Amino acid sequence: MIDYYLDHTAATPLDRNAISAITAFTLLYGNPSSAHTYGREMRSAIETAREKIAKTIGASSSEIIFTSGATEGNKSVLNTFSGEREISFSTRTEHDSLLKNVDVSCIPTGKDGSINPSRVFGQVTSYKGIGYDKVLFATSIVNNEIGTVQNIKQLAGEVHHAGGYILADASAAIDHVHIDVKDMDVDYLTASGEKFGALSGTGFIYVKNGNPFVPLLRGSQENGRRGGTENVIGILTMAAAIHNPTEKDICDRATRYLTFEHALESKLHEHSIPYRINSSSPTAQMSGILNISFKDLESDALLFMLEKNGVLASAGSACNSGVKEISHVLKAIEVPEEFAKGTVRFSLGNYDRLDVTDVTNRIIESVRELKNV
Ligand code: PMP
Repeated sequence: MIDYYLDHTAATPLDRNAISAITAFTLLYGNPSSAHTYGREMRSAIETAREKIAKTIGASSSEIIFTSGATEGNKSVLNTFSGEREISFSTRTEHDSLLKNVDVSCIPTGKDGSINPSRVFGQVTSYKGIGYDKVLFATSIVNNEIGTVQNIKQLAGEVHHAGGYILADASAAIDHVHIDVKDMDVDYLTASGEKFGALSGTGFIYVKNGNPFVPLLRGSQENGRRGGTENVIGILTMAAAIHNPTEKDICDRATRYLTFEHALESKLHEHSIPYRINSSSPTAQMSGILNISFKDLESDALLFMLEKNGVLASAGSACNSGVKEISHVLKAIEVPEEFAKGTVRFSLGNYDRLDVTDVTNRIIESVRELKNV
């Protein structure tokens, strides 16, 4: 029996409002591009959803394009900068959807995953200096494995100062940090619905009005910017679920995170279990991600034991589960191998209540069973 779901960065439960949106719409049908009443009803529902999403993140409706998720969103933006004198770069700790879909070069991060703004400025400047017309810097707002929260506004300032564009992947950020595209001054932002209470297989891109955008999928939908019939119910679940966290939401989660982390650490000390926390303190509290490595344990075995004891977590990015290799993120931040092999990511949801004593006991039991201590 599962008692604790600590894998919210992989996928969240459906938001209550998203469930209501599905229930209200299941029996309705019609292609949103059809001119008849049924089609028009679908179109109008999509446009209302677009307005809600745009307003929530401080954008205009015309700046939102619906997609199948953040992988498509990231690929679409990167693809826009793939012409002869165009180039994209990112960091070594990024999600595969930014690193593996197109050729991007990478700059290193600090050992806590943070990005040095002057390094970004320098990289854009040197690309411009060798003749690239358009340079895109792509980064997540919140790193999905180690929870680092980037100072996007500052990074955007440096990128713009050097004459480049910035793409912010908000997949692990929506519902955790306050998003305002105008205040952050980003050129592009991508999101994945399943990370904030909407259906899987949904997402959107924010493209600042006037910025270049080359569609990945051609067709007349989405104003010619993303072909294919829209996933109407999926879009409605995003509009129903999305919201910007209040200060109180953020503080509540930070408090729960700290209580959980402190309880776990004190029990690990009590039992003399060697461990290492890979997520850096203040930003981990904001993102709700505790990335922790246990010396000389295997992640798979530990996840299995945790599940047996009623706790669901993951080893890192869900997209890489099943891959035996140490994650490129842990390698990039130089986690020693004897620790990296035994890494688990616990990611807290925004609103769930934890019985901290019980859940930390279960985690300790799982580790002890494996270590035979
Ligand atoms: N970017 C980040 C930071 C993610 O965590 C994920 C999902 N793990 C993605 C992109 C890909 O999102 P999707 O599955 O919606 O394509």
